[in-house]
Amino acid sequence: MKTKISKPAGKTVINKRAPTVFAPAAAWPYPTKTRPDNDEALDALLKLQRRVNKSLLDSSEDRNLRLLKASKIPKITIRETIVFNRNPDVVAEVLFQSNGVCHDCNREAPFKKKADGCPFLEVHHIITLADGGEDSVENAIAICPNCHRKRHYG
Ligand SMILES: [Zn+2]
Ligand SMILES: [Zn+2]
Repeated sequence: MKTKISKPAGKTVINKRAPTVFAPAAAWPYPTKTRPDNDEALDALLKLQRRVNKSLLDSSEDRNLRLLKASKIPKITIRETIVFNRNPDVVAEVLFQSNGVCHDCNREAPFKKKADGCPFLEVHHIITLADGGEDSVENAIAICPNCHRKRHYG
């Protein structure tokens, strides 16, 4: 008699190939393209930017023809992503040491957060976690959103 194996109730079954404890990035078992970036939001923007560049190669006329036919309701994709669980102490300490000043341009944060009045700076890993960089104070800097984008796109 065959035994039917069913998913344990209430438990999310993730890709069996995905390690639960992350091995050093050098042993990352996936092709480079699927490796997660620690700055997922910027990574998503970068992917969109490539498609924008492709669209810009077309004439405005062609683009507008496509726009006429395009759905105005955005499609959604639900996918499983691998996210590095960043240490909040690293973020807090890097922000604390920055004293509200951007590491790259030396200017004060562009604004203070409404929620807590803290200067708005973003913590960036110099060597990305996906490339094997450490989640440590030594490997992180606090920078303003402009400089952050420059680091990723400049
Ligand atoms: Zn800056
Ligand atoms: Zn970054």
